[in-house]
This record gives sequence, structure tokens and C-alpha cells, in this order.
Amino acid sequence: MSTSSTEAQSKTFKADSPFTFACSDLLPCFTQCCRDVNIYMTPYDVLRLRRALNMSSADFLSRHTRHFLSKRTSIPVVQLEMNPDTLYCRFVTDAGCRVYADRPWACRMFPLDLTGTPGELGLIAGPERCLGLMEAASATVGEWLESQGVGPYEEMERAFHDVMPPSFDPRKGLPPSLGKLIFLAYDLDRFRAMLESDRFLTVYEMEAMGLQEALANDEVLLRLTFAFIRSQIEELSSLV
Ligand code: SF4
Ligand code: SF4
Repeated sequence: MSTSSTEAQSKTFKADSPFTFACSDLLPCFTQCCRDVNIYMTPYDVLRLRRALNMSSADFLSRHTRHFLSKRTSIPVVQLEMNPDTLYCRFVTDAGCRVYADRPWACRMFPLDLTGTPGELGLIAGPERCLGLMEAASATVGEWLESQGVGPYEEMERAFHDVMPPSFDPRKGLPPSLGKLIFLAYDLDRFRAMLESDRFLTVYEMEAMGLQEALANDEVLLRLTFAFIRSQIEELSSLV
């Protein structure tokens, strides 16, 4: 029995694992991976997409996502909403992704995905669905991910994870009020409006320079939002 190039690849990958893959608009599967998929979004995904689309964060979240607090943990869940009639992503065209430069992290990683073990990735789709896995192009996983621009997404997600206190227990979850506070990281314009209010500046003693930088730069604003959420969680936890 012949063995495909992908079958020969290990089921899990690390940064230095060989990876045989090439996506192309000539493949019959072109854009099929943009249909009927669960794309869980990070705060940085929302920032990049709503900026590319020139939409407010609230408008983007209401028009392009399903979002709710997880019943079990109260952690915010934000999913890219597919067209309910066709199940295709609303950003896909016959020529491919129309937000390609700002596509979400999960789209950049496809057909790879995180496994939950640090530094380890797995295949989310096999060569029967993702024909690019049968192509001859070859690189290491790390080289390929770099070519997909995942670096800033990974870095921002690490910073987002740090908003949770070290004592956080996923089995116990969070009170819903804290889940709503964390959702602020997705709705950046709401935090911007808070920053611009005199009351906020008085209570939190923001330095004028830091404030101006955050108001002028979305990435700085997002990091400041993480710091604010973390400080609030720590303060509230100390009162419990
Ligand atoms: S299924 Fe794989 S090869 Fe096909 S378009 Fe999507 S990423 Fe590219
Ligand atoms: S954002 Fe782009 S790459 Fe991602 S599913 Fe939609 S069309 Fe496909």
C-alpha cells in the first residue's frame, strides 16, 4: 500500500518538525475550508478584522460574531459567524479571503491547530479534505507559521492569558461579572470611551503620555486593556 506524504508526517508537530503543505487556488478544495467551520476569535483577531473593515468593535461583534459567556466557566466565547444560508464565511469570495492580510489566527494556522500541550500542534484536517497536504512544498512547521504571520497573534494571546490570576481554576470558572470584564478586551472601543472619561482618569490616575499613546495605537490600547482587566480581577479577588 502506498503511503501519502502526509500520512508519513507525524500526527503531532513541533516548531522544527518537517511540514509538507502548499495551499493554492488551483486545488479543488480552494475555499472549502472557509465553510462550516468554528473559528474561535481572540481579542487581537477582533482588533485586526474590525480595523481592516473600518468598523467599531461593537458593530463588528454584533454583525460578524456570536458571542456569549461560557455557561460553565463564564469565560467569553467569540466565534466568527458564518452565513446561515450557505454556511460559508462572510469574508470568502471566489478569489479567496477578502480580509486575507488580517485573517484570524485560526485561519492562518489551518490545517494546523494547537493541541493544548505547550509547543505542540496537530492537524485539524487531513489530506482527504485539505489537498494542500499532498503538495510537495516543504518547510519546518516554524518556518511555515512564520510565513503565515502568526507571531503577533501568539504574542498578544500570551499577554491575554496573563490577565487570569495564577489561582484561576478552569473547573471552577469565574463569576459572570468577571467574564463580562474580560469581554472588554474584545470590545476595545468601549474601553477607549472609558479611558476618555474624566472620571476614569481621576480614579485610575492615568499618566497623560500613556493615555495618548494608547488612544493613538490599537495594539497599545489592547495591552492597556489587559492590564486594566488584570488589575480589576486582582482587586476583586482580594475582596472575596
Ligand atoms: S483546504 Fe487546505 S489546501 Fe484547500 S484551500 Fe483550504 S487550506 Fe488550502
Ligand atoms: S476569515 Fe478568510 S480565511 Fe478565515 S474563514 Fe473567513 S474567508 Fe476563510
